[in-house]
Amino acid sequence: MTKKGLLIVLSGPSGVGKGTILKEFVNDPDLKLAYSVSMTTRKQRPGEVDGVNYHFVTREEFERARDNGELLESAEFVGNYYGTPLKEVEKLRAEGRNVLLEIEVQGCQQVREKVADALTIFIVPPSMEDLEKRIRGRNTEPEEIVQERLAKASKEMELISQYKYVVCNDDPKLAADIIRVIIKRYMAANV
Ligand code: 5GP
Repeated sequence: MTKKGLLIVLSGPSGVGKGTILKEFVNDPDLKLAYSVSMTTRKQRPGEVDGVNYHFVTREEFERARDNGELLESAEFVGNYYGTPLKEVEKLRAEGRNVLLEIEVQGCQQVREKVADALTIFIVPPSMEDLEKRIRGRNTEPEEIVQERLAKASKEMELISQYKYVVCNDDPKLAADIIRVIIKRYMAANV
């Protein structure tokens, strides 16, 4: 019988570089990862593809899915809803894939309550100044949203003790290597 895959949660403040780190290790065949595509009511950013980066839905569609119990977890973040489709996660784990969720802290809390052995990793920036530079560098959002994301980041950083591992993104390649080692250790313990 196929051994059920792990559930891996990757969190960190908006702009910390989760996406860049993730690209470094997500396709490593040894890690047998599958990326869980979230549902969101946020507007699509230039370059984002529906069904690849997110499933972009209306508030009504999101609320319906959430109220029907179709989401493993969900949260409101800076005025928009985000959530993880449960069925897809379960299907992939049953196939033996290690499912990677890139979600914020409230969502991680819900996952921990449901899946006690989830592997949770939080990525921190080298400094808050560095984080601000990155968020502004992305240049896709108005000032008030930038401010909101920064305030949210400070709040999120207070919750890092809930995570099993904290990795600093001083260098995305190094951070990705550290995460690779952590996942491999968990895989070895999960046989
Ligand atoms: P962004 O709008 O920058 O893509 O994402 C905003 C925040 O929502 C990020 O911290 C991201 O990790 C988080 N996020 C993305 N998908 C989900 C999800 O399905 N559930 C939860 N709880 N957070 C998510």
